[in-house]
Amino acid sequence: MSRSSSLKLLLISTPVGAIGSGRGGGVELTLTNIARSLIALNHSVTVVAPEGSVLDGIPLVSIAGNLQVTAQSQGRETLITLPANSVLGNFWNYARQVQHDYDVLINFAYDWLPFYLTPFFERPIAHLVSMGSLTDAMDQAIAEVAEQFPTTIAVHSLAQAETFSFRDRCFNLKNGFDLSQYQFNPTSKNHLAWVGRIAPEKGLEDAVAAVQKVGIPLKIWGVIQDESYWNHIQTNYPNAPIEYCGFLSTQDLQQALGESRALLMTPHWLEAFGNVAIEALACGVPVIAYRRGGPAEIVQDGKTGWLVEPDRVDGLAEAISKLDQIDRTNCRLDAEREYSLEAMGERLEIWLDRIVLSQT
Ligand code: UDP
Repeated sequence: MSRSSSLKLLLISTPVGAIGSGRGGGVELTLTNIARSLIALNHSVTVVAPEGSVLDGIPLVSIAGNLQVTAQSQGRETLITLPANSVLGNFWNYARQVQHDYDVLINFAYDWLPFYLTPFFERPIAHLVSMGSLTDAMDQAIAEVAEQFPTTIAVHSLAQAETFSFRDRCFNLKNGFDLSQYQFNPTSKNHLAWVGRIAPEKGLEDAVAAVQKVGIPLKIWGVIQDESYWNHIQTNYPNAPIEYCGFLSTQDLQQALGESRALLMTPHWLEAFGNVAIEALACGVPVIAYRRGGPAEIVQDGKTGWLVEPDRVDGLAEAISKLDQIDRTNCRLDAEREYSLEAMGERLEIWLDRIVLSQT
């Protein structure tokens, strides 16, 4: 299905990091993919993002200001904070001024301000919520929008929606990727992969403990967001066969990732989706993940990887020993079936149609 009329859309990025820096986590790639998907469907797209963002071929308005602190490192009772000259505040000041040039504004920030501002705008604001419930203040802010504008909230997985009181009002967008950027690799070298922000909630230490147990090398890619956490892992596992390989562009990451026997996903939090799972599958790389959150909805146990009882290193080791049972072709096929830009484009249009219709 394709809409007869094209929409003018303003995509407002995460205020946590510039696009391309890795500091904004999966949202950076998610926003880029959504922009591409919408452009392919003949919608007109402009992106608002922090200064220093890189976005090839997509109209970009760069906005200066101080970045937000990441929400996932905070506790449930954390207060709402904004720094002086807040980039988030500056985004929405800009959005307020140009709103009438657009049909819908799409918010990618998991932050209080855009939810609070929603009733004050004259144009509809669609919110793509990138994490599960983390703080009481955010829950309340999102719930109020879900109550007043019930079509506007989208999430990445059912498990993520389940963490919220307004679970029934969430549209499950999942995610989508430009699969032509990921080359299928039918064979692998003898190492495992771990990809993500190196921060406590991502649980890298479990993957390190697992490879120490099985004696297979682990290559690690991603931004070191929490230096002391990374040092702690190196101190605790001095002899683990691990190698840190830096933060790579999508092009280089898929090349390197494709040579891996499997991707280990060991988050300690409820991962809303897990972009890296699809990136691995697209390269033909099976995924071993804890059975919780987004990865549990992505991995088909025994077909595209293995799901393991959460937080069990022995379970990871056992799954690694069964990797030969997984056919890498099935991994790629699964990514193509559900997670292409086209598949996401159909879901995006359903979501946006509902928002536009509910305004008229
Ligand atoms: N990533 C990357 N280069 C790297 C390592 C990671 O571009 O070397 C990107 C990866 O493509 C993914 C993101 O980092 O889009 C991690 O997103 P994910 O959804 O897995 O986790 P999040 O950071 O949002 O918790």
